[in-house]
Amino acid sequence: MVKFASSHGICNYIWFMIDSFKHKGMRRKLVEEIRQKGVNDSEVLAAIEEIPRHFFLDNAFLNYAYEDKAFPIGSGQTISQPFTVAFQTSLLELQKGHKVLEIGTGSGFQTAVLVKMGVKVFTIERQRQLYLKTRELLPKIGFRPRFFYGDGYQGLPAYGPFDRVLVTAGAPFVPEPLKEQLVVGGVLVIPVGAGDVQRMIRIQKVAENEYQEEEFGEFRFVPLLEDKEQGK
Ligand code: SAH
Repeated sequence: MVKFASSHGICNYIWFMIDSFKHKGMRRKLVEEIRQKGVNDSEVLAAIEEIPRHFFLDNAFLNYAYEDKAFPIGSGQTISQPFTVAFQTSLLELQKGHKVLEIGTGSGFQTAVLVKMGVKVFTIERQRQLYLKTRELLPKIGFRPRFFYGDGYQGLPAYGPFDRVLVTAGAPFVPEPLKEQLVVGGVLVIPVGAGDVQRMIRIQKVAENEYQEEEFGEFRFVPLLEDKEQGK
């Protein structure tokens, strides 16, 4: 990335985004690591293998882009660990054409994986800087979800119902609107827990007002913050 000082003293950024053979090789290794950790969904793994994760990280972390770790993305937030992205995406059991609501756009990496899987993505972010940054980045590298700036606890009532809802931040409880905005047969994947550790929960709406819940182990996410704490 090269930085220029413009005449207004504001910096313009020109990105030279190169996806080299070296990056592709590192990605193949990463995907193998994720497979060994237990995700076998070939479409999910193929999507991760095709998306240059280093485009989503700040320059300082470029060398770490293909380690199976979460990293800072600014505004006190993190890009999720690739294994976690793969795990959550496979729990969704996506079908092409599904309408999917994602809470917590963040870096947009998980969003890109969803778009790559052939679903229609609606993604919400509450940190204004991240929302603006990712809304600019994703279309430039070929991903076109619909972006919303707002509070994920409310979902997107005007755009629902959704076939799938994915929450990528740790929620202290399951927000009712997210359950309500599912179609019957729809699935919500959400890490639940108020402390440092969350339980991965998958909720299926089996009938109006009837839900079935399954649990899939422990994960660590940044918190799903309530609107009163809205960041700038
Ligand atoms: N999927 C993202 C994860 C980022 S971390 C990625 O892989 O990059 C979780 C994100 O959820 C953060 O960007 C955080 O700002 C956002 N978030 C937290 N509370 C939220 C809320 N109430 N509504 C929408 N987004 C929220």
